[in-house]
Amino acid sequence: TLDFRTWKEDPAAVLQNARRRNVRLDLDLVLARHDAFTDLEYQSRQLRARRNEITADIKSAHQAGDDAVKQALAEEAKSLRSRLADVEAERDATYLELMQEALHVPNHTHPAVPDEEPTVLQVVGSKPVFDFEPRDHIALGEMHELFDFEAGARTTGTSFYYLKNAAAALEMALIQLALNRMMLAGYMPVSPPDVVRESLVAGCGFQPRDEASQVYELASKHASGAGTLCLAGTAEIPLAGLNMQRTFAAEELPLNMVAFGRAFRCEAGSHGTATRGLYRVHQFSKVELFSIMPNDEALSNAMHEKILADQVQLFTDLGLHFEVLDMPAHDLGAPAYRKFDIEAWMPGRASYGEISSTSNCLDYQSRRLEIRCKTADGTSSGFAHTLNGTACAIPRLLIALLETHQQADGRIPMPAVLHPFLPPQYHVLVP
Ligand code: AMP
Repeated sequence: TLDFRTWKEDPAAVLQNARRRNVRLDLDLVLARHDAFTDLEYQSRQLRARRNEITADIKSAHQAGDDAVKQALAEEAKSLRSRLADVEAERDATYLELMQEALHVPNHTHPAVPDEEPTVLQVVGSKPVFDFEPRDHIALGEMHELFDFEAGARTTGTSFYYLKNAAAALEMALIQLALNRMMLAGYMPVSPPDVVRESLVAGCGFQPRDEASQVYELASKHASGAGTLCLAGTAEIPLAGLNMQRTFAAEELPLNMVAFGRAFRCEAGSHGTATRGLYRVHQFSKVELFSIMPNDEALSNAMHEKILADQVQLFTDLGLHFEVLDMPAHDLGAPAYRKFDIEAWMPGRASYGEISSTSNCLDYQSRRLEIRCKTADGTSSGFAHTLNGTACAIPRLLIALLETHQQADGRIPMPAVLHPFLPPQYHVLVP
């Protein structure tokens, strides 16, 4: 279901797009493996057709009482069976090798995507001004007994943590706020599994086998027949899984979903002092948006803008100062056609930090996961477009909230939109 024909027609364009996006790709190898696979598939069809002929001929020879012919045909059938088994085993192995390499072929790139630096599309609010030295979230956490990193390290390892008191309450309040908002905006709530098949992870465009992979694989004692299982890095993966191998009628789309999940990331290679605290951790709670749209770029681009508008509204109501960025080609990874990130001001770091992201993947994921949609007249079908976005990822949202709203006396008033989801003692955090 991948677009091998287009790749073959214009390999230079595929390679140029991959270079722009900083994706290492051996297109010759992909195309050679595709040729080998097509050839083996053809041989297998020929052998199967011959096998069916022989079965019919044996029947006729049997009816005619022609034992010699029957014997010769039976021998041919035997050798054909073993050749067919060899050809099909080689075909299946070639298919796996082909897919492993073809996963690196990136999506097309939206014409507005910049090359080097992100384009700032929108700025909301302004940097908070303090008449005191603002504390970072770690100092605020000590003041209000919010986090326990040592217990996280003892329980699991470094970059795991406990949220306590107001931080634990805030996590749940933020999840509730984000879920409620998005359900009101028409997203269907889903509670998905956090453990997923490796093949689904790969189908979504994350490469679990790559060296720089962020994916935790489970060494499962319980063979489930599902192959290797992974911890989801984002609920985008099980939400895509919910809809794989489905064909949607035109009137079933758009299908907009919102899910709560725990996200797990190895974050290989990014340890060090910059990762103190909550900024880069191995496990976090996240409310995720996922949308399935018809195979129509105007419609999926419009949905991308809607997801962004829903994100912007939430972070505005939380009183944060942030920038909306159109991310450059080298930052898109393989699946995204276009990606908007939101970076919020974090006074303790005195810098902006990414708090959310939304991508339009066009048909990149649905080709790999076989998510199809029918045209309005129901006569033909194409691959649906998929989009994803962060509604709220807890750790960095906590950093931005605590650091932005802190006062000189250590008190931290929480934005009014969170009050319905917090007991009164946490409306204002008091040291
Ligand atoms: P991504 O799915 O990588 O676009 O990440 C979505 C959001 O999750 C980011 O905008 C961050 O807010 C958050 N996030 C990603 N990785 C981490 C991490 N290792 N620790 C804490 N938050 C993270």
